[in-house]
Amino acid sequence: MKNEKAILLLDMESFYASIEHAENLQYAGKPLVVSGDPNRRSGVILAACPLAKEKGIQNAERLYEAQQKCSDIVVVKPRMQKYVDVSLRISKLLGEYTDLVEPYSIDEQFMDVTGSQRLFGAPQEIASEIQERIKEEMNLRARVGIGENKVLAKLACDLFAKKNKSGIYTLTEDMMELEIWPRPISDLFGVGKRMAIHFKSMGIRTIGHLAQTEGSRIKEKFGLHGQVLWMSANGIDYSPVTRAAHAGRKGFGNGMTLPRDYTTKEDLHVVLLELCEEVCSRARHAGKMGATVSLGLNGASHVEKRSFHRQLTLPTETNITMEVFNGVNQLLEQHWDGFPVRRVSVGMTNLQSDQNWQMSLLDDNQNRDRLSQIGYVMDHIRDKYGKVAIQRASSLKQASQLVDRSKKIGGHYK
Ligand SMILES: [Mg+2]
Repeated sequence: MKNEKAILLLDMESFYASIEHAENLQYAGKPLVVSGDPNRRSGVILAACPLAKEKGIQNAERLYEAQQKCSDIVVVKPRMQKYVDVSLRISKLLGEYTDLVEPYSIDEQFMDVTGSQRLFGAPQEIASEIQERIKEEMNLRARVGIGENKVLAKLACDLFAKKNKSGIYTLTEDMMELEIWPRPISDLFGVGKRMAIHFKSMGIRTIGHLAQTEGSRIKEKFGLHGQVLWMSANGIDYSPVTRAAHAGRKGFGNGMTLPRDYTTKEDLHVVLLELCEEVCSRARHAGKMGATVSLGLNGASHVEKRSFHRQLTLPTETNITMEVFNGVNQLLEQHWDGFPVRRVSVGMTNLQSDQNWQMSLLDDNQNRDRLSQIGYVMDHIRDKYGKVAIQRASSLKQASQLVDRSKKIGGHYK
């Protein structure tokens, strides 16, 4: 059966550990692991960088065991929100090549580039361009499996692209028998340890053995899961790449506790603008904009407890920092009676894709367009050179928390 589709599966090498390496240049060249709590020896390794793996350290291993294998290993705490944000950023980059991008896990995404080839070239060219861009823009290494369906792309990635030098491999259906069938059954994704034992008890030791067993027998014994595995062993997969639209995400919100009570509008404006920038930057990275903004203010605990949390719908969806700030400032004007403020938070909800840029009837569109682009450019500079590489003049004021927050690992996203 001839299938004309071109599917890519992109997998990030040692995702969490590589992000930590990319963001902490002082650890360059050192073996690094991400582990639950570095202060507790009982922690488990969530991710090991390639250097650490060379020393024999494996994912899911106990931290103290890893430290025995390599005493000078760098141990960092996980920053899940950060990893999710990078994953969304990758989805967004892939979205420039096709609207059919489907996250498979936090570090793996399918994309259907069947209809993209006239614009961007053959699947191999698209794969290597994406690989180069991810290297350049995020300092991460992607491996890409290419196939006529998801199963072939996944097998191409797991069994070849992860192991060869280029990190790219194309697997066609007619290569299955020679390249895939001789491999042990445990090489087939979806076959866990227990399943492998079951299969072996039936005399199924290789992927080829499974492929050539009668499908109905496998289905009878293992149900739907068995049937899917049997189809995979035969390189068959009819499931399309579907847009997942990052359904889980309902909004973005950031807050901060201030070092002292803030009592003037001027001081609050400085930190609120910084929070608006953080929220908008996260939205831009995720390819989103929001229609509703919220402001939360909390009084210091030693005085009479005062607080409010209010929201407002903007005239049009946006991720332009100043537009969000104007909304937040409106809420401040309406609801703050001057009580001393110790904690502030800003939120954005009612999200939609930033591809659906609405023509605002009220504003000068060209100007909005430019303002929007400036946001993305500033993000890009900060991603490359650090959070404080470019900042607003207001952040030079004494009330600013920007530099302080930029030093906190994970502080932004907690
Ligand atoms: Mg991976």
